[in-house]
Amino acid sequence: HRPTHTSPALDTQSLWQKDKDHFIHPFTDFSTFHEEGCDLITDSEGIYVQDSRGNRFIDGIAGLWCVNVGHGRAEIGQAMADQATRMAYFSTFNNLSNAPASELAAKLAELAPAHLNHVFYSCGGSTANDATIRLVHYYFNRLGKPDKKRILSRNNAYHGTTYLAASLTGIESNNWDFDTLDHLVTHLSEANCYRRPEGMSEVEYCDHLVKEFEDAIAEIGADNIAAFIAEPIMGAGGVLVAPEGYLKRMQAVCRANDILLIADEVVTAFGRLGHFFASEAVFDTQPDIINCAKGLSSGYAPLGATLISDELYEVLGTPQRKGGVLSTGFTYSGHPVSCAAALKNIEILERESICENVREVGPYLEERLKTLSHHATVGDVRGSHFMMCLENVADKATKDLLPVEARVGDRVAAEAQRRGLIIRPVGHLNIVSPPLIWTRDTVDQVIAILDEALAATTASLKEDGYL
Ligand code: PMP
Repeated sequence: HRPTHTSPALDTQSLWQKDKDHFIHPFTDFSTFHEEGCDLITDSEGIYVQDSRGNRFIDGIAGLWCVNVGHGRAEIGQAMADQATRMAYFSTFNNLSNAPASELAAKLAELAPAHLNHVFYSCGGSTANDATIRLVHYYFNRLGKPDKKRILSRNNAYHGTTYLAASLTGIESNNWDFDTLDHLVTHLSEANCYRRPEGMSEVEYCDHLVKEFEDAIAEIGADNIAAFIAEPIMGAGGVLVAPEGYLKRMQAVCRANDILLIADEVVTAFGRLGHFFASEAVFDTQPDIINCAKGLSSGYAPLGATLISDELYEVLGTPQRKGGVLSTGFTYSGHPVSCAAALKNIEILERESICENVREVGPYLEERLKTLSHHATVGDVRGSHFMMCLENVADKATKDLLPVEARVGDRVAAEAQRRGLIIRPVGHLNIVSPPLIWTRDTVDQVIAILDEALAATTASLKEDGYL
């Protein structure tokens, strides 16, 4: 794994060593890291990235579900450089603002569902969720309902890794050896159609999940519950598409119980499902709050945003106590360079009709990925548009998993990478969440690579006695 090729501009051998000695990587497996270190990604262009050895790959994960407009957009770089040289940073506290942050807030209000017209900025998805929960608690405190504190989330949800966002997260392995704020969060079942209880139709499964929600409310008491938070399609937890009508019915239960609905659209917003926001356009729901990050700036700069309804803003944005100040926010809330990147990114999404591309190419990607179901390990192919996943199993009939040591997700990803495609292994899953500029031609190339990679994986699993 040690890089052997030195790119002209970088001393990659020395970088590899420095990285191994000093960089504590997020979500990194130390059982291999100390030996192998990391691959350095050094260059990128369009749908491609290149490593320090000069290998070029099709990016099948948009960086980390975020580079929606693709890599190497010089005009975003230019917009950032222009802003950085004109006015790189100044506070947005205490009635100060900057042009890109103001402009972007208005643009987000225009793109979001009609009732969401107010924007609170953060630095990414975790901080957006964290700030949201604080604002929700503040809202109920102001309404004289200080007991409404508990947040209902779901098993296998991913909401980030600040203390609060990690507590909302329901992926058990993400919190191994960490603590969580359990007094604030209750996890419901995730909506997993593939692994729903035996003999239940999808309609019955939806009834079952909604009933579980109602039962939890009855048990905890609506007076103690502030909000329900959900990703419209669960991402890192396995690209789980809920049964038809699920989110709308969950919203109805929220409304009936004075519980706020928070949509975590960190992955689904900005085109991944073919619309700027999925909550209303795809799922016919009107959340009280939508959180976004990632595709908001296509990853060119860190940025998160919480979009808040007029109704909530009326309470949050009203002076209540004498000299009352909304005392929360980050140094980089509304960072001018990040907001300039986001504005240019949105301009590109609109100008190049990228949502339309996703609506056109997305169903083709789904259809072609499904053709891979004949491979021995592919138990399920699921997702929607540019948010897809393969679930690998040992036995398709029983849906039993391969042992963890088989590292099937890693094997598929490594075989794909050897053939020029980066996809993401998450346990026994492989996630495909590409830049939104993939064409049908890209899809054809990707399917050819995955077809070979899956065949090679089956062969290697057989060779090692796992199949
Ligand atoms: N929410 C969701 C749905 C996410 O997928 C992620 C990141 N993958 C986050 C929140 C956290 O975002 P960040 O890593 O930018 O803090």
